[in-house]
Amino acid sequence: MPYVSGKKMIKHAWENGYAIGAFSAHNAETIRAILLAAEQEQAPIMIQIGQRVINTLGLQQMKDMVDTFMAECSVPVCIHLDHSRSFEQTMQAVRAGFHSVMFDGSHLSFDENVRITRAVAEVSHALGIGSEGEIGKIGGTEDDISVDEKDAFITSCDEALAFAKQTTVDYLAISVGTAHGMYRQEPKLAFERLKEIRDMVKKPIVLHGGSGVPDEQVRKAIALGVAKVNVDTELRQAFTEGVLDVLGKDPDEYTLAISLGRGTEFMQQRVQEKIRLFGSSGKAADF
Ligand SMILES: [Zn+2]
Repeated sequence: MPYVSGKKMIKHAWENGYAIGAFSAHNAETIRAILLAAEQEQAPIMIQIGQRVINTLGLQQMKDMVDTFMAECSVPVCIHLDHSRSFEQTMQAVRAGFHSVMFDGSHLSFDENVRITRAVAEVSHALGIGSEGEIGKIGGTEDDISVDEKDAFITSCDEALAFAKQTTVDYLAISVGTAHGMYRQEPKLAFERLKEIRDMVKKPIVLHGGSGVPDEQVRKAIALGVAKVNVDTELRQAFTEGVLDVLGKDPDEYTLAISLGRGTEFMQQRVQEKIRLFGSSGKAADF
């Protein structure tokens, strides 16, 4: 199965009432865990490359590594650049062959965020790949970028509409009560606002901070127009739990193939659970 543009993938999910899981990869084993899960569930998925792994392994290196494992993959996959904070980096990703890019200008003024996001979206449209922008600050820490909970807020309808129109992005990340990382208390999504924004903007919505949100709230958010759910923290947890299941317990604990292999198994299970929750299981056949 060839790669699929993020634009086409998210549009299909949005029109058919399910969501694409956008799963973060951090090394070869986590790429495999995601692809094995997608294969097992026959689901279209996104592999997200974030800032932390770009700073350690490299953007091109991650793309090449996904390519290597894709050779044996039969389901639609899209490689997505997560939370880029520079126009230059989004262009590097485009040149490397990514199929979806996110410019995150949520720390900038509205006008500056619009200006750069629109420039990225225009290149993306010309090449037929997907583009994501963010309006409203999502709390928590991701890729070493922290947003104090007091600075996080719920995106207003007016700014969401103005941002979507002016930037022409394909899908829109908004702040509706989720946060990156682990939750200290159970999150309560602002469904009313999500619905209002969906009705006004009429574009697929992206939910960041998908780890630890109760299943019932995730289902409801998808029913209200969320077509991409980002998951990272819960997958890193599952992988680490798998590794710890071997360390100190197995006579072969220093055999990395065994410890990292157990991590891969645990993470694959978690990705499969998310795929089923998002309703994308079995949707590969539609592409
Ligand atoms: Zn995010």
